[in-house]
Amino acid sequence: YGEFNQKIDYVFKVVLIGDSAVGKSQLLARFSRNEFSVDSKATIGVEFQTRTLTIDQKTIKAQIWDTAGQERGISVSVNLINEMDLLEPEILLEIQQNSSIKFIMMYRAVTSAYYRGAVGAMLVYDITKRQSFDHMARWLDELRTHADRNIVIMLIGNKSDLGSLRAVSIDDAKEFAQRENLFFMETSALEATNVESAFETALSEIYRIVS
Ligand code: GDP
Ligand code: MG
Repeated sequence: YGEFNQKIDYVFKVVLIGDSAVGKSQLLARFSRNEFSVDSKATIGVEFQTRTLTIDQKTIKAQIWDTAGQERGISVSVNLINEMDLLEPEILLEIQQNSSIKFIMMYRAVTSAYYRGAVGAMLVYDITKRQSFDHMARWLDELRTHADRNIVIMLIGNKSDLGSLRAVSIDDAKEFAQRENLFFMETSALEATNVESAFETALSEIYRIVS
């Protein structure tokens, strides 16, 4: 995972989206650091991790963005305020001048900053939580409203290690993916199943499109 002295050919921004607790942050930890933490804290604000990998002999830096799902927009985090360059100038001024930040403005600023420049999206649900799958259509709507038309989207059914608690069949997911023109894979961040493969498939497809 070393990144020094490397010539970077491409930087691809990829966003993780989906309901909270589906495992977005653990997928990111697994992909970027090969880690999993059992007692993961809810993500506050926005963060990203990078990992450099080689695709077709090109050095690709994947910049993977993670955020709190449903809570996004309510949490005006220290994290985010540290990432001042993510915010639009008017919003910044608002923060500096007025301690009671208008949440709706924050929400818009965060949403657009989050999707801005993204070339890939990992749309994550939890295979044991039907609702998280049923919400995929809404997340897809948000994505298609805010992101580039050509964004590569990977539908991910996470927690495949919990097969006995399965609430979403592979057929349902495949059908949805086919209808919406998405790649699809089931993963386990816990057992490190298919995580590498899911990101690599998405990144290779992005590479194919841009090169
Ligand atoms: P996020 O809110 O989508 O970022 O979800 P987190 O990554 O914080 O994970 C939510 C909970 O699900 C945590 O308790 C994780 O330990 C657990 N979790 C995440 N990925 C997996 C997985 O692949 N298998 C299992 N069994 N649990 C997972
Ligand atoms: Mg999280």
